[in-house]
Amino acid sequence: MAKRKAAAPVERSELAPAIPDGVLLGAHMSIAGGHHHAVEAAVRAGCTALQIFTKGNNQWRAKPLEEEGVRAFAAAREEHGIDAVVAHASYLINLGTPDDALWEKSIDAFVVELERCEALDVSHLIFHPGAHVGSGEEAGLARVVHGLDEAHRRTPGFSVRTTVEVTAGQGTCLGHTFEHLAAIVSGVAAPERVAVCLDTCHLLAAGYDLRTPGGYEETFGELGGLVGLGKVEAFHLNDSKKDLGCRVDRHEEIGEGFLGDAPFRMLMNDDRFRGVPMVLETPKGDDELAADTRNLRRLVGMIEG
Ligand SMILES: [Zn+2]
Ligand SMILES: [Zn+2]
Repeated sequence: MAKRKAAAPVERSELAPAIPDGVLLGAHMSIAGGHHHAVEAAVRAGCTALQIFTKGNNQWRAKPLEEEGVRAFAAAREEHGIDAVVAHASYLINLGTPDDALWEKSIDAFVVELERCEALDVSHLIFHPGAHVGSGEEAGLARVVHGLDEAHRRTPGFSVRTTVEVTAGQGTCLGHTFEHLAAIVSGVAAPERVAVCLDTCHLLAAGYDLRTPGGYEETFGELGGLVGLGKVEAFHLNDSKKDLGCRVDRHEEIGEGFLGDAPFRMLMNDDRFRGVPMVLETPKGDDELAADTRNLRRLVGMIEG
């Protein structure tokens, strides 16, 4: 009988930082070749948190999850202790659209993503609220709320949290003000199923200046008043290639863009967000492991005490 070839062991890179206990820090990783590959990439980079797409993010269709793939993903997480896993929904989904056909299609796709998260034991499905494409912000937000209600109605008892991300506010995209997030979080029939994800690049692009201690406190004070800081259940840590209020979404490596190190240093030491998963979506270049570990080391180096 032929001997089964042993799989190469997954080892932590020597470039990986030592992330302190209780800090959930990681990166978005590719699921190409199977969802468990994302876990292995996270392990190599030393991550304690992981973000994935549940399916190809630029296609509507998805091959149904196979039991074997789900099992391999769960086994890899168990083996390597990667408990904190969030997912990002497809960029095609637009729950804010006035176009009925696209809206229905978006709800269907959103439900499929919720189902995949539930099957994969992913805690949060992070999504951009979508674009109103000329119908106006109020009408767009009402559509998002209605769409989420429908998605929740079709997925009773699910534990995955529907997690709305703050956006840069490109074009007619919704979600670039805390008022938008509040309208969604408090507008849905099941607010307990909804959480918020903050992307640092998007915050700056949307006009929230968190680069100084005063601006940082003002930003989170405003968010606390409108949404509640307890609703913040995920972060995307990205620097921005463009400046404050540009309304353009261009991620940069940590500390290398218009945010610089200061806001990340404040965030990494903010007790209010200890235990909230924080993942990088920074450019990876040709050497993904080198880029991820470089950015993770920079963040870990900021943690005081
Ligand atoms: Zn993001
Ligand atoms: Zn972005």
